[in-house]
Amino acid sequence: MKTKILVINPQRIDFAKIKIAAEEIKKGNLVAFPTETVYGLGADALNEKAVAKIFQAKGRPFNDPLIAHIADIKELYRLSKKIPPVALKLAEAFWPGPLTLVLRKSELVSDIVTSGLDTVAIRMPADNIALSLIREAQTPIVAPSANLFGRTSPTNAQHVVDDLDGKIEMIIDGGKTKVGVESTVLDITTKPARVLRAGGISVEKLKEVIGQVKISKELEEVFRSPGMLNSHYSPQAKLILVEEKGESEVEEVRQLASEYKGKGFKVGIMAKEENQNEYNGFEVKIIGKGAELERCAANLFAILRSFDKDGFDIIITEGLEERGLGLAIMERLRKAAVPKYEC
Ligand code: AMP
Ligand code: MG
Repeated sequence: MKTKILVINPQRIDFAKIKIAAEEIKKGNLVAFPTETVYGLGADALNEKAVAKIFQAKGRPFNDPLIAHIADIKELYRLSKKIPPVALKLAEAFWPGPLTLVLRKSELVSDIVTSGLDTVAIRMPADNIALSLIREAQTPIVAPSANLFGRTSPTNAQHVVDDLDGKIEMIIDGGKTKVGVESTVLDITTKPARVLRAGGISVEKLKEVIGQVKISKELEEVFRSPGMLNSHYSPQAKLILVEEKGESEVEEVRQLASEYKGKGFKVGIMAKEENQNEYNGFEVKIIGKGAELERCAANLFAILRSFDKDGFDIIITEGLEERGLGLAIMERLRKAAVPKYEC
């Protein structure tokens, strides 16, 4: 299959091009497109055959449910039969935006979307290309990140080409995504609501709007045992995470980097800007200032991918503070990391 690439300027949307992409969705084909979080791989959420193609193209297991993206709040009532007041409160505060709500599903939503669960995940993205595409296709669009399963999520169109060229019909190139990490997934079928995945809307912001919020057991588990999952967001290079511990952090990164360099590996360091001069003699990429977590989130996946492009075997990364978007960054680093002495 030849993958077509449509370049669309998000500041001046060419609706003729949106129409072409929407036709592909209506035909049951796959179109990758930018959202404010990462690039999504889109299919008509109400067409089972189209949805199945997503799992095939990504190599994603069928037990990993998808998020339905909508452009109009009315769609919420089609996809869910039970909408608690808290859903509307959250939608009012954060939509369009990087918050996914898990609600009871309606009959319209197929098991292939929800992996057989009786709940469905829904969000309204804050991106004009994404919203225009959903409106023009006149259907909700499921859109997991447009990367091969387990790999680093794409934050520009080239990243999508690198993973999915020849496997999907179309890619909309709308430039670099703003947020850079996926949406926060919040289950509101329970009380209090539970964060299933940290993401673009911080837990602190959620608490400001709905008060109490719980962190799911699974997410706590990720934070308890870093490097044990090694199944998600992984660059091809082995990633080793060194936790934030003041001065000893730099010391430990240096020590690990020397050790692996000594064994003949090509070693790179991902560091905070304030520490960039601490690693003379090593190859360093800067994620951003430790205090600017939003910028760090926006840079995260592109930097990990650039280590792969440059042929590194091992990436040793500093940690970031677990507040604001730092929680989402650390969730992803912990899922991508291998144990320190595995390599
Ligand atoms: P993504 O891979 O970015 O499309 O995110 C999809 C993620 O959203 C899944 O891996 C789940 O963690 C979560 N999710 C989707 N649907 C549901 C659901 N019905 N219940 C709980 N979590 C869900
Ligand atoms: Mg993903």
